[in-house]
Amino acid sequence: MDGELRRVDDLFPLDAPYERVSVLLPLPLDGAYDYKADPAWGLERGAVVEVPLGRRRLIGVVLGPGGDDVAEDKLRGVIRAFDVPPLPGTVLDLVDWVAGWTLAARGSVLRMAISSPGALEPPPATQVLTAVPEAAWPPNVRMTPARRRALAALADGPALEPRDLAREAGIGPAVIKSMLEAGLLERHDLAPPPPFAAPDPDRAGHDLTGEQAAAAEALRQAVADRAFAVTALDGVTGSGKTEVYFEAIAAALAAGRQALVLLPEIALSAQWLERFEARFGTAPAVWHSDLKPGVRRRTWRAVAEGTARVLVGARSALFLPFAELGLIVVDEEHEPAYKQEDGVAYQARDMAVVRAHLESVPVVLVSATPSLETLENVRSGRYRALHLHARPGSAVLPTVELIDMRRDRPERGRFLAPGLVRAMRQTLDEGEQALLFLNRRGYAPLTLCRACGHRLECPNCTAWLVEHRLLGRLQCHHCGYSGRMPKACPSCEAEDSFVASGPGVERLAEEVLSRFPDARFQIASSDTILGPDQAAEFVRAVNAREIDVIVGTQIVAKGHHFPWLTLVGVVDADLGLAGGDLRAGERTYQMLHQVAGRAGRAERPGRVLLQTHVPENPVMAALAAGDRERFLEYETEQRRAAGMPPFGRLAGLVVSAPDAERADLAARAIARAAPRIDGVAVLGPAPAPLALLRGRHRRRLLVKARKDVNLQRVLRDWLSPIKLENAVRLTIDVDPYSFL
Ligand code: ADP
Ligand code: ZN
Repeated sequence: MDGELRRVDDLFPLDAPYERVSVLLPLPLDGAYDYKADPAWGLERGAVVEVPLGRRRLIGVVLGPGGDDVAEDKLRGVIRAFDVPPLPGTVLDLVDWVAGWTLAARGSVLRMAISSPGALEPPPATQVLTAVPEAAWPPNVRMTPARRRALAALADGPALEPRDLAREAGIGPAVIKSMLEAGLLERHDLAPPPPFAAPDPDRAGHDLTGEQAAAAEALRQAVADRAFAVTALDGVTGSGKTEVYFEAIAAALAAGRQALVLLPEIALSAQWLERFEARFGTAPAVWHSDLKPGVRRRTWRAVAEGTARVLVGARSALFLPFAELGLIVVDEEHEPAYKQEDGVAYQARDMAVVRAHLESVPVVLVSATPSLETLENVRSGRYRALHLHARPGSAVLPTVELIDMRRDRPERGRFLAPGLVRAMRQTLDEGEQALLFLNRRGYAPLTLCRACGHRLECPNCTAWLVEHRLLGRLQCHHCGYSGRMPKACPSCEAEDSFVASGPGVERLAEEVLSRFPDARFQIASSDTILGPDQAAEFVRAVNAREIDVIVGTQIVAKGHHFPWLTLVGVVDADLGLAGGDLRAGERTYQMLHQVAGRAGRAERPGRVLLQTHVPENPVMAALAAGDRERFLEYETEQRRAAGMPPFGRLAGLVVSAPDAERADLAARAIARAAPRIDGVAVLGPAPAPLALLRGRHRRRLLVKARKDVNLQRVLRDWLSPIKLENAVRLTIDVDPYSFL
């Protein structure tokens, strides 16, 4: 295709020859629509087009030739085809795969693949001006001082944009216009510079240790094989997993292929980007939901055209139209953030494996605490594993100790046990840094009335309001509701009777301030660190030792490397264990292990103290003993015995409606229609733990199936015939991670 947009009238000329094409639209629909198009356009599968639908114009993707079931006079015409490479077949196949797996509509999945519609327009051309040589001037040109200055400015320099010429020559736009008309200046279109420099695979990385070198060689080989293979890169925190997979990226680059790296919280990974730049001499392309539209456009196009060689992104990067993908890396593969909960409920790690399969390329799943799913795939031989056992150089793994909160109790209204306070004092005296980890934003998770015990709850959700004292607000972390602290209790009308119950990071910081008035502290949570710039500044301040105590939520749990951080105190190690979540134990183990991994990553040894009320719990015992295998064995046995993933299959169904009655009616109707099939059990309906969310009443059903059951087919056969009232919504979550 050339650079011109082809336009035809919405009403395709009836007598013109045409071909029928089938176009999938980014709407919550499975089916595609037929349109007619000019055969001369040669619309292939994957071509991106604009089409009319009703009175709207939509962007869609050609799936192939259309059928003949729509009458000719009903058929509407494709409005235009965009001048972008067609979406690769692998992306269209991925859309089908994800839709088939998650039971989402194909159009909803497609929407993720064409999430940057602006990228479809050609980038705006920049115009520059040059001087016409004197020999080529028309006769009798009039020369003025202003014109002379313009010619002088262009005489011994590069071509200039009109704006720059005007500034350098001190002239106005009218002069430039008249010179163009007089034939003294010439206009040229300047191709925009390629937005991403090519990373250089040949720069030297660190000298790898023996086990690192062996792992790197195995990955390089996988890249060279150009075949689908899944490798779990399983190594303790700080063992150099990143260095090792950088070698795989280098191999992909050297082979002329692109590489995709998925990270769970890309926006906060300034350190990762710096390391990449140090290794490859230039920054990678980046993809996440907060990109500015212009950057997003350029990046999408550069990936499609192959000018972006390495892209690091959050889960949605999985749907980008890589032209010549050679490698996928999923870092921190165990992270729950890879599961998208809203819209299309997909697990990006698993779909990364699918994409790698469709592309016939290797995929590397990286973690110090691999998911049980991945470990089970290693055990059964579907995935291969590479292990890194040691931190390079003198860095050693931190020691982990439990503080039994039943014995070593904090004073009333305080949250740090005497043992942890002593350790902090010692650390600060040595001039080193401490991290207090508490995965709770705000001041206090619960506010209650001292007089009657009334709890302040969100009006829209079954959830307590969280006090954010720094903002002076009460907030709901589920729906975003925000309000002021009421003067009087809404229940008993007592005035000024509210007390905070339990700690959030703000309240903990208050305790740090009162215990260590000279220590410089910083709260690190999604409320205090907004976006990549602030994250980078935070990392800089910690490394410059301008901060002594970090009071942080999960945003500090992973990835960061702070050489002076030697003490990690986990304020409530039991926090994640409650709540009846299938993965509660696993998640707690992973999270605490990651946090512990922040300590002692350089020459100074690290120490980790976990405050717990259940030191005998297998998660705590395994963490204290540094015995991952023991925990995994225990957890694996529990899951196997219960037939839970990865040994069985689950799907969550949530029925929601504006009122409880309709939610109940619909949920019961769905339950009544449930299939009676060997190996499938349907539990519920029951009110969801979040029985009210954003004003909608929610009921849950849980479908549990044996591993050999085709769960998707069972769900489709059961649920597709069911007609629901307009106000009632049913969401299906295959392999749920949230049970709220
Ligand atoms: P992981 O990804 O396993 O947590 P990293 O790759 O982040 O580990 O490595 C931890 C730290 O050790 C980083 O600062 C890294 O630069 C450094 N490092 C890793 N391997 C080596 C090596 N072979 N020589 C020197 N430094 C290394
Ligand atoms: Zn709410």
